[in-house]
Amino acid sequence: MEVVSGFKRTRTMDVAAVFCERLGPGRLRGHVPLAPLTTFRVGGPAEWFIETRSSDEIVSSLKLAHDLGVPVTLLGGGSNVLVSDAGLRGLVIRPRGGHVQLVDDRHARADAAVTINGLVRWTINHGRAGLEAWAGTPGTVGGAIFGNAHFGGQLIGDLVNEVRLASRDGATVEVPASAMAFEYDRSRLQDSGEILLSAEFRVSPGDPVALRATARGSLAFRKRTQPLDTPSAGCVFQNPQPGRDAVPAGIPWSAGALVDRAGLKGTSVGDARVSPAHANFIVNDGRATAAEIRQLVQRCRRAVGEQFGVELREEIVYLGHFD
Ligand SMILES: Cc1cc2nc3c(=O)[nH]c(=O)nc-3n(C[C@H](O)[C@H](O)[C@H](O)COP(=O)(O)OP(=O)(O)OC[C@H]3O[C@@H](n4cnc5c(N)ncnc54)[C@H](O)[C@@H]3O)c2cc1C
Repeated sequence: MEVVSGFKRTRTMDVAAVFCERLGPGRLRGHVPLAPLTTFRVGGPAEWFIETRSSDEIVSSLKLAHDLGVPVTLLGGGSNVLVSDAGLRGLVIRPRGGHVQLVDDRHARADAAVTINGLVRWTINHGRAGLEAWAGTPGTVGGAIFGNAHFGGQLIGDLVNEVRLASRDGATVEVPASAMAFEYDRSRLQDSGEILLSAEFRVSPGDPVALRATARGSLAFRKRTQPLDTPSAGCVFQNPQPGRDAVPAGIPWSAGALVDRAGLKGTSVGDARVSPAHANFIVNDGRATAAEIRQLVQRCRRAVGEQFGVELREEIVYLGHFD
């Protein structure tokens, strides 16, 4: 390791050799394109990239990166992020695989890498109710807990009993939901930098036929209301919140409605476009860059601020450097 301008800089060979020795050859890869791993389909490469196969591997990777002084970014399903065109420095950990298991009659535990759709399928097939309405939500348990995903007026944090977290140096801890600081679009992970390893959800006995019908209803609702055939990251902005924002009378408390009424539906910057189907979605018409998407986001924020006095906040997470 060498010290440059007071910062620890780890030599390329050190990183590759250490991960190879601890996790096996070929597991750590360099310069891996991230665009195909995001639902926006934009962004540059990861300097270093590993797909972990278990919570233990996430923890080992965190410890190694910490000891080497390499910054770490977690990537789940990539369905709520905008990765910068220059890509990400340091190590990107992408949890894969993972399991769901019944802890007891009323609780099911899912690893961070499990997809929300996989969790929904599992609970329905095992006759457990509680998550069926979340069918069609892209991404993983890790990303959903990080951003406290919401659907139909419910927050996923409301269904959580406890979680297992790792700190950036790999120390693990069990945390009850009451200590997760869950709020609309918020969890403690956004401030602490902790990594979700698994989450225990409250479930109850349910009839798989009825649960499947609810799941199908959610899928149909999404198909009707969202532009699912074009790359996007879902809703770009959080909805305004009573007590924090002031929305003029007669306008719904919805970010999409505000962008729509500001006249921006269909507006584009390069190949980034405000979806004509849902004004809170920005879609990538093919060759959009992260910079173009970011410019369009800013244009929407400015117009809504100027016309309605509402300051929109992004729901999507920016990863990497943006001007
Ligand atoms: C078509 C479409 C529809 C959508 N509908 C909804 C919806 O109804 N409701 C909703 O809330 N969202 C919705 N989204 C957004 C997205 O699906 C959710 O935010 C989802 O929970 C993100 O999960 P992810 O695994 O893809 O996270 P990513 O996008 O990969 O990451 C999001 C953030 O979580 C962090 N992260 C990921 N894994 C971990 C981990 N294990 N530990 C700590 N941090 C982690 C990342 O570093 C990043 O900061 C939609 C997106 C799309 C494309």
